[in-house]
Amino acid sequence: MSKVIFHSEAAGSGPDQEGRRGGPLLDTHRRPLRDLRISVTDRCNFRCTYCMPREVFGADHVFMRHSELLSFEEIARVAAVAVRLGVRKIRLTGGEPLLRKDIEALVEMLAVLHTPEGDPVELTLTTNGTLLKKKARALKDAGLRRVTVSLDALDDAKFESMSDSGVGVATVLEGIEEAGRVGLAPVKVNMVVRKGLNDDQILPMARRFRHSGHVLRFIEFMDVGTTNGWNMAEVLTGAEILAQLRREFTLEPARANYRGEVAARWRYTDGAGEIGLITSVSQPFCGDCTRARLSPEGRLFLCLFANQGHDLRGLIRRGGSDEQLAAALAGIWSARDDRYSELRGAETARRGKIEMSYIGG
Ligand code: SAM
Ligand code: SF4
Ligand code: SF4
Repeated sequence: MSKVIFHSEAAGSGPDQEGRRGGPLLDTHRRPLRDLRISVTDRCNFRCTYCMPREVFGADHVFMRHSELLSFEEIARVAAVAVRLGVRKIRLTGGEPLLRKDIEALVEMLAVLHTPEGDPVELTLTTNGTLLKKKARALKDAGLRRVTVSLDALDDAKFESMSDSGVGVATVLEGIEEAGRVGLAPVKVNMVVRKGLNDDQILPMARRFRHSGHVLRFIEFMDVGTTNGWNMAEVLTGAEILAQLRREFTLEPARANYRGEVAARWRYTDGAGEIGLITSVSQPFCGDCTRARLSPEGRLFLCLFANQGHDLRGLIRRGGSDEQLAAALAGIWSARDDRYSELRGAETARRGKIEMSYIGG
């Protein structure tokens, strides 16, 4: 196992000591490891055109076998080690995470994790909302703190053209309301905006979620994966989205809640709440990116646009100890130099990239 060097963020200097005493684990751009996104399945009951287009993810698509997936115990082990190394926030995602059987059992195992300072780890989940009405109470009882629900339109026909699911908007709205009711709040509602497809839904969505206590976040359509036919002409930028909103509402910028917050926050001046803009294409935020991503079968990816993951399942199933797992994770993170969105361009775009439905956003 290679030697693990931790860097001291506070000192602002290079490598100083080995082990946790040296301060947070930093990558080559001095970014700490703070967030872990765990994709628990590559399956989904939607076929969003920007994520799992049916032409590619059709009836004959081969998904992972259950034996290939990390078990809940294996996921919890990786998570516990990652928390020791600096992770403060864990997000469960997929595919559709609520399709993974007994997901609340995993939530229960993760909800007990505490940082070395004794604070509970912030545990959240991103879902398309179809099973949320049924599952919200159990998730809350298991220790989940909040949920993010994806919803790209209020109009049923538009929603169908984005999600290709046969599910109506009402089902997702009921899921959102139930999540709010049981205290998985504030619920964040994610809307991916694709120019010419659902940009006419920006204002209806804003009207619907003003005064609701939920936070609507607009996401620029991203060039994740290789199957969604992304092209820049279909990206409505955060600035353009904001301009649309400002035709009807008065908004003022709000301060970020913490370093590395992905969404730029804007507040309605009439007290109706706030919205977020996630501008990964027009204003990349790699400099503050503190996220690692664990795939369903236990590969660690350091960037949403990576084409290679680091296999942790092999180490775990060969009987590796927590110390070995920690050393592996630390070694991987300290060598990290990814900043795809800042470099986005012909050369990087040509490489293979993992799919969003596999790694979970
Ligand atoms: N199935 C769950 C859901 O849809 O919320 C979780 C997984 S999904 C991959 C996570 C998030 O990624 C969703 O909010 C989805 O809208 C977003 N997403 C997927 N493909 C995207 C793309 N090409 N550009 C921007 N966001 C995307
Ligand atoms: Fe499924 Fe979420 Fe991808 Fe839509 S965005 S296909 S709901 S994983
Ligand atoms: Fe982080 Fe990669 Fe996205 Fe940059 S492109 S913000 S490094 S995930």
